[in-house]
Amino acid sequence: MAVETSSGPQSGSRLGHALTPGPILLLGAPGVGKGTQAKELMRLWKIPQISTGDLLRANVAQSTELGRAAKEIMQCGNLVPDDLVNQMVAVRLTEPDTREGFILDGFPRTLPQASWLDAKLATRPGALPIVAVSLQVDYNQLLRRITGRRNCPVCQRIYNVYLQPPQREGHCDVEGAELVQRADDTEMCFQGRIANYQSLTAPVIEHYRALGRFAQVSGEREVAAVAAEIVGVVERLRGHA
Ligand code: AMP
Repeated sequence: MAVETSSGPQSGSRLGHALTPGPILLLGAPGVGKGTQAKELMRLWKIPQISTGDLLRANVAQSTELGRAAKEIMQCGNLVPDDLVNQMVAVRLTEPDTREGFILDGFPRTLPQASWLDAKLATRPGALPIVAVSLQVDYNQLLRRITGRRNCPVCQRIYNVYLQPPQREGHCDVEGAELVQRADDTEMCFQGRIANYQSLTAPVIEHYRALGRFAQVSGEREVAAVAAEIVGVVERLRGHA
């Protein structure tokens, strides 16, 4: 398997040229790095990241009907009802940029969402089977990643007060704007999110593990090293190693 761990996935991987990535699922607990990895892979493969959390937050910000229904539920990390999220994903999957593949980040989070997605993709002309990658990070590290996370409200850059602090405390290095903390990134909400993850989302991982095109990857290294390993396992699972 060709895995590059030193120079990052963009520099040497053949994957972007060798095959169509198809549908990729990034699974794992809150704070495991799904969003960060999705952005790395999106750049490499030129396919979109579909983050249901980002889509829902955009709906809340625009106060759409969906956003109004989701707002309170999301406040402390409870899950938005399956049919609302499925419908939102269905609409996103009609966009032409998803034809060659897409990276789902934060979806599916329940078994009914997984069944819905499997059925949906089965009817999609020419769609490759799903490849699922589960990221793993130790509990204490997850807690630090979540409770230390701060976002720039202007450019959306993500910092961490413990692990990746801005140069000037509390302010974005690029925009100078005051950084904000997501309402659901407190320790109290984190406990509930982890509980939801264990009862509702962990079975999704077992579902895709059983289907076979599945790999588990440690998320406890440099971003580029984790991305490189994901590239390698996707290549292998697609039969191109
Ligand atoms: P995230 O940015 O992935 O942490 O998602 C933020 C919040 O959006 C979650 O805590 C849920 O309230 C909601 N959410 C995101 N994705 C889903 C999903 N697949 N199913 C239900 N709720 C979701």
